[in-house]
Amino acid sequence: MAYRTPLEARLAKQVTKAITDYGMIAPGDRIMVGLSGGKDSWALLQILDVLRQRAPIPFTLVAVNVDSGYKDYKHGLITETCRDRGWDLRIEHTTIGEVMDDILEAGETPCSLCARLRRGVLYRLADEVGATKIALGHHLDDLVETLLLNVFFQGALKAMPARLVSDNGKHVVIRPLAYVSEADARAYTKESELPVIGCCCPACGDLSLQRQRVKRLIMDLEREHPHVKASMLKALTNVMPRHLLDRRLVEPVDGAAAAAPVDETPFPQFVPVRKAR
Ligand code: SF4
Repeated sequence: MAYRTPLEARLAKQVTKAITDYGMIAPGDRIMVGLSGGKDSWALLQILDVLRQRAPIPFTLVAVNVDSGYKDYKHGLITETCRDRGWDLRIEHTTIGEVMDDILEAGETPCSLCARLRRGVLYRLADEVGATKIALGHHLDDLVETLLLNVFFQGALKAMPARLVSDNGKHVVIRPLAYVSEADARAYTKESELPVIGCCCPACGDLSLQRQRVKRLIMDLEREHPHVKASMLKALTNVMPRHLLDRRLVEPVDGAAAAAPVDETPFPQFVPVRKAR
């Protein structure tokens, strides 16, 4: 069976490579796709459905939408679209939007709290729908932006894993779009005529300013050096621990101080002291 378009063929190739590289899907898996109705989650669901129909191993899909409870959120359109395409869908109505302000801790952004709350709901739903894996729509741009955000603002050298086992060992989260660019995900959702639905959250587009800044920075660099993103992705697969300064990763040397336990505080001892004028 031929792919419908060259873009679909490219996505299928990149997603298949990510699935193979990280052992994301095994025979008999029931993959629960987090479907927000945004461009990335639609692209993920569509391409996984295409691959499911031609994959040499059997697996099934179920889309799950976590409705945060915002008044104008068009979850009805998500239901209709999934029904028309024959996609199994479960919608979970929540009050996440309402409780956000009350439980937001100092220093936490609404988006990180929101992601944490949604993740909790997704884990519960995974059990309820009998899912063996949870697929999220983060793409290559998300991975490299997160890497820079963590380096610039959190004092940590980390991005997003392509495959992650939850802390309690019960859930496996996968990111099959890890090698797909945001531009391709957007274009694929458009050419597949899937309706992009806004989250209707007041924070949307306003917060996460650091992420917008980092996105612009990468975009500017890409104009001068078109392979910057590809190089960053390659860097994530090409880590040289001995060329870093984390003493937990290097051989102990006689006389050297023992490696300190993990320090979660961003840049504790390296904050530059501003001179008084
Ligand atoms: S913009 Fe709103 S809905 Fe989207 S992640 Fe941030 S807080 Fe959550």
